[in-house]
Amino acid sequence: MKLHEYQSKQLFAEHGIPIPHGQMTMNASEAKSIAEELGGRVVVKSQVLVGGRGKAGGIRVVNTPEEAEEAATQILGMKIKDLPVRKILIDEAVDIKTEIYLGITNDRTRRCPVMIASAEGGVEIEEVAKTNPDKIIRVWIDPLLGLRDYQARYLAACTEMPREHWREFMSITNGLYQTFIETDATLAEINPLVITGDKGLMALDGKMVLDDNGLFLHPELAEMRDLDEEAAEEREARKYGLSYVKLGGEIGCMVNGAGLAMATMDVINLYGGSPANFLDIGGGASAEKVAAAIQIIIRDPNVKAVLFNIFGGITRGDEVARGILAALEKTPTKLPMVVRLVGTNAEEGRHLLAKADMETAVSLADAAQKAIAAAKAVEES
Ligand code: GDP
Ligand code: MN
Repeated sequence: MKLHEYQSKQLFAEHGIPIPHGQMTMNASEAKSIAEELGGRVVVKSQVLVGGRGKAGGIRVVNTPEEAEEAATQILGMKIKDLPVRKILIDEAVDIKTEIYLGITNDRTRRCPVMIASAEGGVEIEEVAKTNPDKIIRVWIDPLLGLRDYQARYLAACTEMPREHWREFMSITNGLYQTFIETDATLAEINPLVITGDKGLMALDGKMVLDDNGLFLHPELAEMRDLDEEAAEEREARKYGLSYVKLGGEIGCMVNGAGLAMATMDVINLYGGSPANFLDIGGGASAEKVAAAIQIIIRDPNVKAVLFNIFGGITRGDEVARGILAALEKTPTKLPMVVRLVGTNAEEGRHLLAKADMETAVSLADAAQKAIAAAKAVEES
């Protein structure tokens, strides 16, 4: 789950990281009064869950409350990378001397958190990694020991942080580490962390991604989810406990098990097709869950054919077949569908599907080729 900038910075502030005074709002006239309270010179910042807002014109520094209202009106009417802007953050403008990058994430290979800093702050870190990889400094953190002072000092030295800011920088690195650990985050990023002309260090931008699997431990964080920002399909999928990721291809996939879903996508690619989504209905899926999954898949206009790949263990083939038929009764579609069903009660399931004139397959290779051929036929018709 991604957090907005204003939410991330609020969590940072709770862990002692200095942030600019500011307030989130959804309307332009309130933006004006917030700007008045903040003294006139403010930054109006779109709150959308994508990076590069600055480049897209979604961040404006203005000098008066009137200008803030105007900028707010404009930004609230914008779309950034297809996302309509519904919220804006009005922050006091600060005088920036230097922009630094500071972030923390998990290094899966080393199986521990890694804190990353760079003197090339303000721009996207992925860009720096490509063009200037030696400007990225990393320290790996032993989760039993936590972030050590010498590690923070090393980051300060490598980013050429002036000595007078080291103590403050160490308090910020500690705050960021604590934020990351306590919220079960997978990413906590300050970009830019700025050295200001008069107020020391400050986190000007914030980005956090929380681990969905840890959210049940943090009901107060779970409530921060911005439902407006999610694709309707993803919301629906979560409601039914489905793992769904939309992709760009034309073959809709419904599979039980994440590993099997990945293998299915590979086989589709192998035969020259491309998957429209990753969808794992999980073990022991009920007919109702199957029905929800189908509706999510066929709502995607890119989908030209649907491939079901069900390996019955706990999941029963006849349950799945009933779910498919129930969903199709509720939401009829002309999309071709190929079902590969093996394992528990597969025979019974295939029988039910054959009665309804659906194409079935025994091997995955066969099923994938049939689905790809069907999708081509739809595209050409
Ligand atoms: P992003 O483009 O989505 O990463 O948004 P940021 O919040 O990082 O803002 C982009 C850039 O806008 C920053 O790197 C700064 O250069 C600039 N910016 C943001 N806030 C201020 C501010 O208070 N004063 C000034 N002068 N520039 C700012
Ligand atoms: Mn930024």
